[in-house]
Amino acid sequence: MPQPTGRLFDGYPRTMPQAENMEQVFRELGLQLDAVIALEVEPEELISRITSRRTCKACGSITNLNDKALLDSAVCPRCGGELFQREDDNEGVVRRRNDAYRRQSEPLIEHYRKKGVLYSIDARGTVPEVTGRIEGIFNRVRETRQQASG
Ligand SMILES: [Zn+2]
Repeated sequence: MPQPTGRLFDGYPRTMPQAENMEQVFRELGLQLDAVIALEVEPEELISRITSRRTCKACGSITNLNDKALLDSAVCPRCGGELFQREDDNEGVVRRRNDAYRRQSEPLIEHYRKKGVLYSIDARGTVPEVTGRIEGIFNRVRETRQQASG
C-alpha cells in the first residue's frame, strides 16, 4: 500500500487574500485542501508562554522557563549555552500580534468553517498532549480520504 502523501503549511495563509491566492494555486495544481487546524489558546496563556520563552545564544533553540527544572540552571538544555529573551517576546508585542491576528485571521476561521474543513483544537496542555490532538485530526482526515477514494 503506498504511503499517503500530504503537505502541511504552518502559519499560512494568515489573511483572506493569501487564502484566495492559495486556493487558486490548489485549483491549478489539482490539489485538495483537506483540513485547516486552528490551535485555540486564551490570550493570557499565550502571553505567559511567550514572555517565559528564552532563546539560546549558541544554538538558537527555544526553551520555556515555565518548566521549573530550568529556572535553577537557566542555560540551554540542549547545549548549555546562555539564554536570552528576544526583544519581541514581551507582553506589549504579544498583545499587538494577537490584535493583528484577530483582525486578519479570524475571517479565515469562518471561511474554512463554511467549507467544512476547519478543525479547532484546544491547544492548552503539554506539547505531547497537543501533538496527540493534532495527530487525531490527521487520522480522521486520512480515514475520510480513504473512504472517499475507496
Ligand atoms: Zn543551545
